[in-house]
Amino acid sequence: MTKTYRGSCLCSAVSFELGTPPKAVSHCHCSQCRKGHGAAFASYGSVPRSKLRVLRGADSIKIYASSPTVLREFCMECGSTLFWSRSEGEYADWISIALGTLDTPFVPRQQRHVHVDSAAPWHMSSSFRTRIG
Ligand SMILES: [Zn+2]
Ligand SMILES: [Zn+2]
Repeated sequence: MTKTYRGSCLCSAVSFELGTPPKAVSHCHCSQCRKGHGAAFASYGSVPRSKLRVLRGADSIKIYASSPTVLREFCMECGSTLFWSRSEGEYADWISIALGTLDTPFVPRQQRHVHVDSAAPWHMSSSFRTRIG
């Protein structure tokens, strides 16, 4: 039996299920992800769109196009960041899940930090820089 992973937003209006563990786990330090999360970086793992099932609150999900081909989805009740995806191109059939919304324990086999050259200067922990190079 395939393990499923559950997730939800802060107010619980939105809940979802993944039919497969998130892949390509990355922590993105780009300015858009920092803004979108209000945090030092955004942590995402990706699944094929067909493996994401919104169980509750689809009406509460707002989609914001942060660039012509990038869609960021969040709960319009509580503001929790939920999903990131491309509207066209090679990876359009994948969707990235904001890992902070997961309720099921999940430990990725590997992960990486990306766009570290855009990292916030106030984020003083430089350990990720040395570890990832
Ligand atoms: Zn919510
Ligand atoms: Zn980013």
